[in-house]
Amino acid sequence: MSGRLTDRVAVVTGASRGIGYEFSRVLASEGAHVIAVARTVGGLEELDDAIKAEGGSTTLVPLDLLDSAGIDRLGAAIFERWGKLDVMVANAGLLGVLSPIGHIDPKLFEKTMATNVTSVWRLIRSLDPLLRRSDAGRAILMSSGAAHSAKAYWGLYAATKAAVEALGKSWANETQKLPLRVNSVNPGATATKMRAEAMPGEDPETLPTPREVAEAMLPLALPGLTETGGLFDVREGRFLQVSMPA
Ligand code: NDP
Repeated sequence: MSGRLTDRVAVVTGASRGIGYEFSRVLASEGAHVIAVARTVGGLEELDDAIKAEGGSTTLVPLDLLDSAGIDRLGAAIFERWGKLDVMVANAGLLGVLSPIGHIDPKLFEKTMATNVTSVWRLIRSLDPLLRRSDAGRAILMSSGAAHSAKAYWGLYAATKAAVEALGKSWANETQKLPLRVNSVNPGATATKMRAEAMPGEDPETLPTPREVAEAMLPLALPGLTETGGLFDVREGRFLQVSMPA
């Protein structure tokens, strides 16, 4: 398969469903070999079937991102097989709970932080050396409008996404002189399982599909991208901020 990502290797976390599933397909349709990470083997296998039917290629990695040593092993395995990584998509996420801040269960608080923030940092720690070996490394971190609106009862999720954006901006500033480009994305409300959990009364037909969102995100993975340290807003179809080092 030939495309704008031919011979490029991409890691996508949260690839078993939703936005990560569709973004994996979009990357593969451009010729990338997609390393698909999630816990649900059935969802990963469905993705593998879909990508192969479309002429693409995948490696499935059933992994709980709370397993930090597993993330380290992933980096080592990619180094052994490819010696570099071109695209990293830190997409996996957990809503946690919508609740008054003082009522959040401590274990759920820790788990949501660990899934949405610590695992993203562990991915960066493990994969940054490989992305630096690419001539067009691209890192995409999934944020949310919640990071900025921090509505009542969304505090836990909002705090995790604000933390992800801060990690991304700082990493972008550290790597500004390299070919590596690091950006966060706000996909906007999208018809997925997570959105249905947050807004059970909402009609998903009124929302953009994960496929539409995934297609809009593709430019962030392409070698031609110049922006780094930015927040790309899918609804607006543009960067809302691009940070520059002081
Ligand atoms: P879904 O709930 O549909 O999918 C979440 C994905 O994350 C699944 O593939 C799940 O896989 C994976 N995941 C969760 N926990 C773990 C874990 N511990 N280890 C490995 N994988 C894990 O979510 P969306 O597709 O809606 O969301 C994708 C991203 O977009 C998230 O970061 C979310 O916060 C963000 N976002 C979504 C919005 C929306 O409206 N949908 C709006 C704004 C942001 P599995 O369970 O198989 O492990």
